[in-house]
Amino acid sequence: MVAARFSSRGAMKQGESTGVVVIGGGIVGCSVAYYLGKLGGKCTIVEQDTVAGHSSGFALGGLNPLGVPGPLNNLSLDSFRLHQGLSESLKEETGIDTEFELHTSLVLAYSELEAHAMQLGLTLLGNQEGFTAEWKNNTDILAIEPRLAGGLLGGIVIQYVGLVEPYKLALGFLQAAEKMGSHMRHGTVTGLKFDSDRVTAVLVGNEEIPCDTVVLAMGAWSRDAANWIGMDIPTSPLKGQILRLRVPGPPMTYVSWGHNYAVTKPDDLVWVGTTEEDMGFDETPTLEARKWIMESVVEVLPHLMDAQLVRQTACLRPATPDNLPFLGKTFGKEGVIIATGGGRKGIHLSPIMGKIVADLVVKGNTSYDISSIDPCRGMS
Ligand SMILES: Cc1cc2nc3c(=O)[nH]c(=O)nc-3n(C[C@H](O)[C@H](O)[C@H](O)COP(=O)(O)OP(=O)(O)OC[C@H]3O[C@@H](n4cnc5c(N)ncnc54)[C@H](O)[C@@H]3O)c2cc1C
Repeated sequence: MVAARFSSRGAMKQGESTGVVVIGGGIVGCSVAYYLGKLGGKCTIVEQDTVAGHSSGFALGGLNPLGVPGPLNNLSLDSFRLHQGLSESLKEETGIDTEFELHTSLVLAYSELEAHAMQLGLTLLGNQEGFTAEWKNNTDILAIEPRLAGGLLGGIVIQYVGLVEPYKLALGFLQAAEKMGSHMRHGTVTGLKFDSDRVTAVLVGNEEIPCDTVVLAMGAWSRDAANWIGMDIPTSPLKGQILRLRVPGPPMTYVSWGHNYAVTKPDDLVWVGTTEEDMGFDETPTLEARKWIMESVVEVLPHLMDAQLVRQTACLRPATPDNLPFLGKTFGKEGVIIATGGGRKGIHLSPIMGKIVADLVVKGNTSYDISSIDPCRGMS
């Protein structure tokens, strides 16, 4: 395999690699394995549950490159472009249809304050190459989605954003990576082994998996690795719940307001969400959340009042204090790369995160500007 050995945070030595281990089989870990394969590398993914068994398998899968924190703008657009190519390439490589599609997105304003804030933000949104974002009055918006409740002042129409089935995307990444030599194994990583400050193995119970590069792609559980590497990774679990509803009538255009959204997905169900709850690592769907989501949604989309609930899911986003991921090499430990903190945009950002990590593993550096998402930011 491709030799990949760090000699410091910025440089690498060529030599015989003992291997790359990726901890976490969510969408980020699977994307890392995929892009590693594209550069001639391979890895072992260690996953304690199942592939995309947490938020990567249950997220909505909205791919909206706009409206991210400023420092993420370029990476977000690059990731969107990667998604556009992936739908075809993964189908060819694995036969998996990730259900990627482009669609119109309506961002609704029900108060003067929201309308004002949206119009202010429009310059930034509208200036992104390849997208249009326009303010429309309520008549124009209702012409696109007539089932919206009265009281609407207007909104932004964005063309086009994407939607994907995240579980299928993760599975596509994994299967393609397996064809290129990577594999996934089951187990809970409990620590890392170092020789001086260079990583030499990943510990899974009593077993040691030798490696000279480890990628921490542990999602909401990333902070568990802080003790292993002697450096904090300040991620926290931000619980989100989604309802999937059966509703008579034509498919729904994607509409969002505040933190809520509704859209018909290719399974013909209307997915509505979502909550943002600080509940530790509890992934149980709750009655309270179901009621709260339904009340918020019915205010804007009254026809959903009689919808039949088909499924309710709950899972944990890997949130960070500044809403930016942690991506890059660690300080003081050689061969350790962090790839986490996708927060609400982890599906959208997964291709670019995987591609950058693969660059760092194989080439030792990347042409993407990752200074704003350096895991060591804020360290004195
Ligand atoms: C309700 C909801 C809706 C969302 N909608 C969107 C959306 O529309 N668009 C978007 O871009 N994003 C969305 N997201 C966010 C997105 O789902 C996440 O950011 C993304 O899935 C995170 O991926 P990950 O691979 O970093 O983490 P995860 O999917 O959590 O994967 C991490 C994996 O690491 C494993 N792991 C952890 N510790 C260990 C260990 N010690 N040993 C072995 N394995 C370990 C875990 O078991 C887990 O499988 C949504 C999230 C939620 C909750």
